Amino acid sequence: MEDCLFCKIVAGEIPATVVHRTDATLAFRDIAPKAPVHVLVIPTAHHVDAVALARADPALAAQVLAVAAEVAEAEGLTVDGYRIIFNSGRYGGQEVPHVHAHVVGGAPLGPMIAG
Ligand code: AMP
Repeated sequence: MEDCLFCKIVAGEIPATVVHRTDATLAFRDIAPKAPVHVLVIPTAHHVDAVALARADPALAAQVLAVAAEVAEAEGLTVDGYRIIFNSGRYGGQEVPHVHAHVVGGAPLGPMIAG
């Protein structure tokens, strides 16, 4: 996708701090972290959101989740816990329309939805 920010990161046109890479996925640190650990996991192929990915390529959706688990382990999040978030659409607060799992942790994260 020509104008997709995360496709440009995949292509190496925009720099990112990559923490994990496979043939089909990329994980990199969020540029504006909301917690001590905040990593984004994406499929390198462009899919708009989690449901679009799951419908088009369930095996790839599973790979994204598996990488999120590996990142959580590598970042030391598994003892105290963490959160994996997929935002979707305007009401879901999705800013970048290329599916990404937010892996966040490293401190208590508070309620799931801000009141
Ligand atoms: P969302 O609101 O779920 O679409 O999340 C998009 C995330 O992408 C936000 O947490 C942003 O801080 C993050 N972000 C935006 N641009 C970049 C970038 N160039 N590198 C890394 N993360 C980014």
